[in-house]
Amino acid sequence: MTPEMDNFKRLLSQKGLKFTHERKQLLDEVLQLKHHFDADKLADLVKRKGLRVSRDTVYRTLPLLLECGVVQKSVGDGRREYFERTSVKGHHDHMVCIECGRIIEFTSEKIETLQEEICKSYGFKLVFHDHRLFGICESCQKKLAKATSTH
Ligand SMILES: [Zn+2]
Ligand SMILES: [Zn+2]
Repeated sequence: MTPEMDNFKRLLSQKGLKFTHERKQLLDEVLQLKHHFDADKLADLVKRKGLRVSRDTVYRTLPLLLECGVVQKSVGDGRREYFERTSVKGHHDHMVCIECGRIIEFTSEKIETLQEEICKSYGFKLVFHDHRLFGICESCQKKLAKATSTH
């Protein structure tokens, strides 16, 4: 049994939910994914493989996988929610360039610790977080500076 399956099972039992064959199959698929994905992509994948996992189950199971830390929120085109497996790169957060869409991944122990401390001071139990910073990347800043200086 993988630690991910352990975490998932524990969460399900906490919520009084069963570790059904459908959920197990879905977990197995997610654990094989190496890149970010959205709910529709995952649903298409299981459908193509001929697995008996309904689209509905995919939509209802993803938030559970997020809650137990098997997946984390990723970033994409901003139109939909993207997920990625936490264990591929470990937990990280994102910076998103609003000019070119470039995504920079970062980790900061300071931010992680601070988040925990803030939640604790509010008596809030942190389950997961999705930290995104929006701004302009280095190369876009240069382009923008060039564009204004030629006027
Ligand atoms: Zn973080
Ligand atoms: Zn950019």
